Amino acid sequence: MAQLAGVKKRIVVIGGGFGGAYAAQFLAKQNLKDTEIVLIDRQNFLLFYPLLIEAGVGQLEPRHVTVPIRSFLGKRAQFLMAEVQHIDLSRQQVTLQVDSLPSRTVHYDHLILAPGSVTRFPAIPGLADHSSQLKSLQDSIEFRDRGIQLLEKANTIEDRDDRAALLRIVIVGSNFSGIELAGEYQEFLESQARNYPNIDPEDIQVVVIEYADRILPAIDADLADFARKRLERRGLVIRTQCSLTDVQADNVTLTTGEVIRTHTTVWCAGIAPSPLIQHVPGLPLNDRGYILCDPTTRVRGFENVWAVGDSAFIPDKHGHPYVATAQNASRQGPVAARNVLHSMRNEPLVPFRFESLGSLAAIGCRTAVARLMGIKLHGFPAWFMFRTIYLMKMPSWSRRVRIMMDWTLSLIFRQEPVQLGVRNR
Ligand SMILES: Cc1cc2nc3c(=O)[nH]c(=O)nc-3n(C[C@H](O)[C@H](O)[C@H](O)COP(=O)(O)OP(=O)(O)OC[C@H]3O[C@@H](n4cnc5c(N)ncnc54)[C@H](O)[C@@H]3O)c2cc1C
Repeated sequence: MAQLAGVKKRIVVIGGGFGGAYAAQFLAKQNLKDTEIVLIDRQNFLLFYPLLIEAGVGQLEPRHVTVPIRSFLGKRAQFLMAEVQHIDLSRQQVTLQVDSLPSRTVHYDHLILAPGSVTRFPAIPGLADHSSQLKSLQDSIEFRDRGIQLLEKANTIEDRDDRAALLRIVIVGSNFSGIELAGEYQEFLESQARNYPNIDPEDIQVVVIEYADRILPAIDADLADFARKRLERRGLVIRTQCSLTDVQADNVTLTTGEVIRTHTTVWCAGIAPSPLIQHVPGLPLNDRGYILCDPTTRVRGFENVWAVGDSAFIPDKHGHPYVATAQNASRQGPVAARNVLHSMRNEPLVPFRFESLGSLAAIGCRTAVARLMGIKLHGFPAWFMFRTIYLMKMPSWSRRVRIMMDWTLSLIFRQEPVQLGVRNR
């Protein structure tokens, strides 16, 4: 896809997640005659992260938390499913790879970077080898599979301590994804335990490890306190002001020196910007590897490179970065896209300015905590809002209907303890 003189301008978007897909969709809707829009992602769906945990505990069919990119974009933008391997800012081209086939380059006139983030694994001995994360559709399928596998194994074991070690899940990190996973996974394991005559639900234990002195540090203290009390009442163990110093296949060691027997450690404590952007010559990064942008989402020092989402440092009016959320990324994308068009027409650029609409965390058993436009909710009303808001945020009606059907069916029928066998370790 080399650029020929006198032909259409090309805007290339890297990453079809909340930042990139919404940027490309905005451009596609403009029906531009003289401009080609190309979106590149290694997968052909937008993963709807806010409902990923529900897929991981079987409340939702995993495919229903994806949005097919091609229908999301429509026909006015091209989608290329490929791995972006290299970005050459001086030549204005990106290099793509499909399997082991020869790589190809795509020229751009404007580039929007939206490659998202990865889980940040600190250098704790054994952590990389013996822990899981929840960052992809496969991860969510594996979580459900693993829960069922643990119950099957525990059901065949006679020694109660060994059984309890198998059924103990250690989750590190208590921000939204850690706490939601802890609450939902415990409910899932306990409900499934009914299928196993040798398992006492009391044997199931989810332990949350948090470095700070409270859980859910991004939400109001009283709501976090409500969530903690509810979770502890249900039997979850919450350990604050500690972390891990060692992770093995069958135990973890805490910073207090205590050793906890477990076969499942999940790391939910922090993200890092995409590895793709770490070695792009000339791309300005801060000391933590985030792309430095000005408030318009334009990358510092470039006229035609823009960045949005989890990998971008876009300063707010106080000079602080926006929090890495879908809420922000899906709004930054269209602002970057609009500014690309302004830039092409020599019009003034607009800054990205957005005040968060609120935060929600569902903690299982039809309970959540929420702060929405200044109003605090907890318990069932917050959980109802959680589901309603994310249902309406789902970009297509066909997905919304499928999700509503999943939720309705899960009220009527019990889940069956069947592994899908995506990974089996
Ligand atoms: C479990 C979980 C729950 C969450 N819940 C919420 C929530 O409730 N509310 C909320 O606001 N936020 C939530 N978030 C955060 C939110 O999902 C992210 O902030 C948001 O997805 C960031 O958007 P993005 O476009 O930067 O990245 P992403 O949405 O991750 O998209 C990045 C895309 O880039 C692609 N990509 C990366 N590198 C390459 C490459 N080299 N080649 C090709 N393609 C590439 C990836 O495949 C991906 O599709 C959650 C996150 C997680 C993990």
